[in-house]
Amino acid sequence: MTTSEKLFERACRVIPGGVNSPVRAFGSVGRTPRMIACAGGAYMTDEDGNRYLDFVGSWGPMILGHNHPAVREAVAKACENGLSFGAATRREVEMAELICRHVRNIDMVRMVNSGTEAVMSAIRAARGYTGRDKIVKFTGCYHGHSDALLVQAGSGVMTAGIPDSAGVPKGCTADTLSAVYNDIDTVRSLFDAFPDEIAAVILEPVGANMGVVPPKDGFLQEIRSLCTKYGAVLIFDEVITGFRLGFEGAQGYFGVDADLVTYGKIIGGGMPVGAYGGRREIMECVAPLGPVYQAGTLSGNPVAMAAGYAQLSLLKNHPEIYTGLNRKGEWFFGEIRSIVAETGGSAVVNSCGSLGSIFFTDREVVDYETAKTSDTAKYADYFGYMLNSGIYLAPAQFEAMFLSAAHTEEELEHVLELIRTYFKK
Ligand SMILES: *Cc1c(COP(=O)(O)O)cnc(C)c1O
Repeated sequence: MTTSEKLFERACRVIPGGVNSPVRAFGSVGRTPRMIACAGGAYMTDEDGNRYLDFVGSWGPMILGHNHPAVREAVAKACENGLSFGAATRREVEMAELICRHVRNIDMVRMVNSGTEAVMSAIRAARGYTGRDKIVKFTGCYHGHSDALLVQAGSGVMTAGIPDSAGVPKGCTADTLSAVYNDIDTVRSLFDAFPDEIAAVILEPVGANMGVVPPKDGFLQEIRSLCTKYGAVLIFDEVITGFRLGFEGAQGYFGVDADLVTYGKIIGGGMPVGAYGGRREIMECVAPLGPVYQAGTLSGNPVAMAAGYAQLSLLKNHPEIYTGLNRKGEWFFGEIRSIVAETGGSAVVNSCGSLGSIFFTDREVVDYETAKTSDTAKYADYFGYMLNSGIYLAPAQFEAMFLSAAHTEEELEHVLELIRTYFKK
């Protein structure tokens, strides 16, 4: 038995499923999770001393590579001054200024502790601001695990959402409407049906939780126009795309303005941080300025802010990181596409900047329905082959592959060779 296996066995006795977040259990790839002991740059090392070239990057935060010295040193320095005060600090001001100055449409921002919390709070602010209850989300987009957002699509577009998890009362999802990603007509029919009741439309501007599903040309712009026309708040959930597609996230990358934006992952540099921000008149509804209540004992925590600020200021001061990452992604995922074509593999490669996914299907993947046509058993096989070759991919089909600034062209060439060998067999 390996050390990972022994530890996982112990974990399963005292932690539900042995993990603190379900996908880590390796359930959908039918393997035992590797217990990670340490990481640096593009690599992670497990408790048995196996080293992996990592394409998860803590699900996005490690855009500079693991354990980046600038971030680590900022954290160490912050620790010397105390771990938490539950009071206002200079770093929070600097962090908010950095974001508001350099990201379009963010006039004010509030720090929270996770992406889930950011989205939950942004929805509340949108409802408070508009005085409306209904929200529109897209099937296959993930926005964290708060009650209102854990919905299955109803059988018809007009039906209210059905909870997608046990423990979520029907009432909590009754005002959540589902639309189909990349299908603007489904959004239009919801506005036709409820012209004065929709508080917000929320989406991942690049779908990254059903595998990577980029928006079709014009899709985001059309949602923007509908929200403007009907007075609904447009929320971009940029927990993955924020500070990844560029410093201005998807708003900058696609040139589409959101009213509210939610952040997580990269914004904390590896610490538990989320944030929501946007237009002043909406953010001014938030307590203590306005009537929308939202609070957090550890929000804006000094150590977490130090990590996030170090990472964001580095990204801000080095725009070439984004040019490099996006170019690397275009090349790398393009090469995988060519390999699949050359070897006649039945797979589809979607990508946007440094995010990409291989779907084991013949169908073009544009939404959740088409993503679901993927053969997850084939993904599990591919995952196992890559893991045994020292490549750590997301342990589930419907997740992204994350490139970081630390992945070198040589390392990526090596991965392409492995993929070529895999698809040849
Ligand atoms: C990860 C994620 C969330 C949830 O963030 P947590 O920090 O895990 O709570 C929300 N939205 C999107 C798009 C995400 O990828």
